[in-house]
Amino acid sequence: MRSVRASAPQLAAIEPYDPKYIPADVMISANENSLDVPFEIRREIEHEIRKVPFNRYPDPLANDLRDMIAEANGLDRDQVLMGNGGDELLFDLALAWGGPGRTFLNFPPTFSVYRNNAQLTNTAIVDVARKEDFSLDEEAILARLAQGDIDYAIVTSPNNPTGGLATGNIVRAMLEASDALIMVDEAYFEFSRYTVRPLLEEHDNLVILRTFSKAFSLAGVRMGYLLGNSAVLNEFKKVRQPYSVDAVSQAIARIVYANRAQFEKGIDAIIEQREVVFDALNSLEGVSAFPSDSNYILFKLDERIDAGKVWADLLEAGVLVRDFSRSAGLENCLRASIGTPEENERFLQELVRIVNMT
Ligand SMILES: *Cc1c(COP(=O)(O)O)cnc(C)c1O
Repeated sequence: MRSVRASAPQLAAIEPYDPKYIPADVMISANENSLDVPFEIRREIEHEIRKVPFNRYPDPLANDLRDMIAEANGLDRDQVLMGNGGDELLFDLALAWGGPGRTFLNFPPTFSVYRNNAQLTNTAIVDVARKEDFSLDEEAILARLAQGDIDYAIVTSPNNPTGGLATGNIVRAMLEASDALIMVDEAYFEFSRYTVRPLLEEHDNLVILRTFSKAFSLAGVRMGYLLGNSAVLNEFKKVRQPYSVDAVSQAIARIVYANRAQFEKGIDAIIEQREVVFDALNSLEGVSAFPSDSNYILFKLDERIDAGKVWADLLEAGVLVRDFSRSAGLENCLRASIGTPEENERFLQELVRIVNMT
């Protein structure tokens, strides 16, 4: 054939995910941890990987990891489920709770992956936009949930890319407003030190998403997990790829999780630096930063300044940030991850120079 028939119709509206990940001196575009796993832990990982049989399938559910994470969170093994990064579990959510005739409640601006997954699975999308300060519109959300047709919703806390936390009170109100499955995406909870985990005791319709990619420096390894009630996680098990979490990643994640206390100092440093960067951004004429509970800061440039041009000028100067200037609700906004003090200083220096030139 010199032609191929069209792919599934729902793909027409979708662009392949492109993080615009361009090599630069200062990589602060993807909310990764600027510091890699400490050398001592890497040595332990190398030792552990030597013991992995490459010819055998991995433990499909990664039960050793589930047990470690369950214990740390006061849960049982069947209340934890591992995934190939949080992203796989987000896709599994759309497969298990979405689909034709089903409805997803989204709170934009937020992580774009949610909307994509709903489109891929032919799930209807209902948006309840965030308020001007990017906080959740509680009244509108509860009213929409009360209509009874929502199958699942995702609350990102802290929200990416805007940075703010959703409080336990609003999440509790949502859990009580309907029987929709409410996922709270806590990909950045180590930087906010706040979790809705206590709400799991009383609410069967809550599931929490976490990842090793951010605080634990494992973006390259792909490991995420869910905390939830066993009946909910059992539905995820039905749709997940049986061997999505490979044996090498399991070994790496076990060692990192066992040594997670060693990451605390780095997390503290990021939280401290977040305040430094926030104050510096807000002291700049023409720049306003949004408060963040996470490891990144969203900032808006005033109309005189073209954020897309600032993004390009920063890259030219060796600093890669994330450009949201053409995203709905985030007009003229850029997002910078919090890096090492040296990286943050370089970013701020270049930004000051560029903004003062325009
Ligand atoms: C980074 C991120 C995730 C998960 O990322 P993985 O690398 O796939 O674990 C999930 N949700 C949000 C909002 C994120 O920013």
